[in-house]
Amino acid sequence: MRPISYARAASVDEAIAAVRADGGGAFLAGGTTEVDLLRQNVVTPRLLVDINDLPLSGVDELPDGGLRIGALTRMSDLAQAPGVTRDFPLIAEALTLGASAQLRNMATIGGNLCQRVRCGYFRDAASPCNKRDPGSGCAALSGFNRGHAVLGTSDWCIATHPSDLAVALVAVDAVVHTRGPGGERAIAVDDFFLLPGDTPELEHPLDHGELIVAVEVPPTPIARRSAYLKFRDRESYEFALASVAAALRVEDGAIAGVRLALGGVATVPWRARKAERFLIGRPAEPASFAEAAGQELAGARTRPLNAFKVELARRAIVRALTTLTDATRTQPREAR
Ligand SMILES: Cc1cc2nc3c(=O)[nH]c(=O)nc-3n(C[C@H](O)[C@H](O)[C@H](O)COP(=O)(O)OP(=O)(O)OC[C@H]3O[C@@H](n4cnc5c(N)ncnc54)[C@H](O)[C@@H]3O)c2cc1C
Ligand code: SF4
Repeated sequence: MRPISYARAASVDEAIAAVRADGGGAFLAGGTTEVDLLRQNVVTPRLLVDINDLPLSGVDELPDGGLRIGALTRMSDLAQAPGVTRDFPLIAEALTLGASAQLRNMATIGGNLCQRVRCGYFRDAASPCNKRDPGSGCAALSGFNRGHAVLGTSDWCIATHPSDLAVALVAVDAVVHTRGPGGERAIAVDDFFLLPGDTPELEHPLDHGELIVAVEVPPTPIARRSAYLKFRDRESYEFALASVAAALRVEDGAIAGVRLALGGVATVPWRARKAERFLIGRPAEPASFAEAAGQELAGARTRPLNAFKVELARRAIVRALTTLTDATRTQPREAR
């Protein structure tokens, strides 16, 4: 038995101060990750500071066309917000394809970005795992690594980043807003997720007691024609083996703008910038998409059990961009 204290914070400052004051303190939002890990002895907080009473819920449509999403907004509420379904379908679809309806009703946006990896060796609390117990080794390197990453890996950790939402947010250059002991910070979502390198225990740049208060999505007109495609072992309630968040603008048959990010294949939500650069100005056709995917995935480091992910990701990219191209063709010109 390990004693755990529980406190309910009445203000943002109170929540930050309470976690700061205890090196074993942690925020508790929907609890859908934190409580699982606690039960499995993977995390051992001494104090849980419940942040559910804080006024950090809601989705505001900003005058410039962007969004401000409160950190305590539930996944299900964000997925249904009119500004999201209309202007950012890739975000709505990424949310709806994640977890289950019950989980989405509990899980928050801040918690989603801070969720921990699903690597079985991390979660069994017994195997060598550099992320859970730095320096102990990585059981996945020679173990069952079918679900593990092929991009952004290191010799210390190959776990995939589990969030679907984060992949969509990376594609639209979202910004994570935080408040902590040092004041407020705005962190580009691309910089929020850290590659494992030789410090896989560090997953994001948050200080102890630093609270995510909101996520801002800049105006992104191209995202009106966007999609999130997810391949997994079963139709629901499952994490991605490969996923793609994509947005596309086609003018006179050529690609005038593109956003592409990958999930399920990398240690962080992966912005496919090589593919994006290749595609600009090329014909919007499957051959271009396949070539771009090949360039992005050329640096993949595979293992016998997860080598299939390279082909799966390539096909996912081609499918997503082909679907968006076909949808553009069937739209009236003035709506493109
Ligand atoms: C069975 C199952 C299937 C799932 N499938 C998917 C899936 O397919 N796709 C997907 O994307 N996700 C999936 N998830 C993960 C789920 O989306 C996350 O568990 C959830 O989003 C976490 O949010 P929460 O509010 O419950 O966080 P909590 O569990 O409360 O917290 C998670 C972590 O975030 C920290 N935290 C929470 N809020 C803040 C904040 N505002 N600032 C700083 N730190 C904070 C906590 O201290 C904790 O470390 C699944 C989960 C389960 C259990
Ligand atoms: S892949 Fe990462 S999380 Fe999994 S065992 Fe290795 S170090 Fe731990």
